[in-house]
Amino acid sequence: MTSVSYGNNQKRDYYEVLGVPRQATKEEIRKAYRKLALKYHPDRNKELDASDKFKEISEAYAILSDDQKRAQYDQFGHAGISGRYTAEDIFGGINFEDILRGFGLGGGLGGFGSVFDFFTGRRGRSAPGRTTAIDLRYDMEITLKEAATGIEKEISLKRDEQCPHCEGKGAEPGTPLNTCTNCGGYGELRQVQQTMFGQVIRVGTCPTCQGRGQIAETLCSECKGKRTVKEKRSIRVQIPPGIESGSMLRLKGQGASHDGGRPGDLYVVVHIKADKTFQRVGDDLVIEVSITITQATLGSEIEVPTLMSQARLKIPAGTQPDTVLRLRGQGMPRTQWRGKGDLLVRINVQVPKKLSKRQRELLEQLSKELD
Ligand SMILES: [Zn+2]
Ligand SMILES: [Zn+2]
Repeated sequence: MTSVSYGNNQKRDYYEVLGVPRQATKEEIRKAYRKLALKYHPDRNKELDASDKFKEISEAYAILSDDQKRAQYDQFGHAGISGRYTAEDIFGGINFEDILRGFGLGGGLGGFGSVFDFFTGRRGRSAPGRTTAIDLRYDMEITLKEAATGIEKEISLKRDEQCPHCEGKGAEPGTPLNTCTNCGGYGELRQVQQTMFGQVIRVGTCPTCQGRGQIAETLCSECKGKRTVKEKRSIRVQIPPGIESGSMLRLKGQGASHDGGRPGDLYVVVHIKADKTFQRVGDDLVIEVSITITQATLGSEIEVPTLMSQARLKIPAGTQPDTVLRLRGQGMPRTQWRGKGDLLVRINVQVPKKLSKRQRELLEQLSKELD
């Protein structure tokens, strides 16, 4: 049930696409889009990838210029956008013609094709009263050792769930739901808009029934017509071995219900606590150990800590300070391939600060010998 998502590699970051910082103002975003649109508009730019570029920047602009969608994107990345919004949801509210006015760029896009193609599925409204599911985010901290072995954690959260008494209808069971007369039961009022991507039907929510298409005659006694109830839940989360800090685990259907509709997803963001001994670099772990000058010079075998226990490490004769020795397979489990990373041991050669009389004599003797 748990699936790991390591971010969407195919899609570029919207801020990067527009070349603006994450804290950019709406005006800066608008300006950046205008500038890029001028460059890549298919009416002007005849290069093959111009229309793809234009799609990309238009999508980025459509998301980042909308406060709600931008917040959703900032929190969940592309996962928070794709599959949640229809093309109409994304582009319907934006007047591209208005933005591009003054550049001599018209509304029509000629053979440009459909800009909506990149959002597959979920086209148009499926049924009256369709509601937007709510995704939840939960931040969790684990230790490096837990990240190495993988672990099952139980988290506890409060969320809105579909009211079981009325099954999210809002009406007391056995009492009727009447069709809304304002929208004729469609839950929405349609308005046709001309945009540069062609005709877009803007869909507004019916204010009388709040998009439900139906009105309860008697409100549900449990949720008082709210259609949802607050529940406290414990959820088991399976953390896979080798997980990287900042990874998001998506638990489908474990989010909250909005208006009694189907629930959204729960995103568990896993943070790995800094470890006192080990530093993680990708699949490898790095530690630092100190040896004496004689161990470094003559060679030796020492005991070094590994994440789970200890291992013997051979120090070759003539080891220089800051040499990095590698213990294969003593790192973190790999998530992409089989096997494990390595343990990298950085050798710190300690020069003694205090010497006994005997030690001094011996070193002086050695010094003469080396000269
Ligand atoms: Zn109810
Ligand atoms: Zn209505």
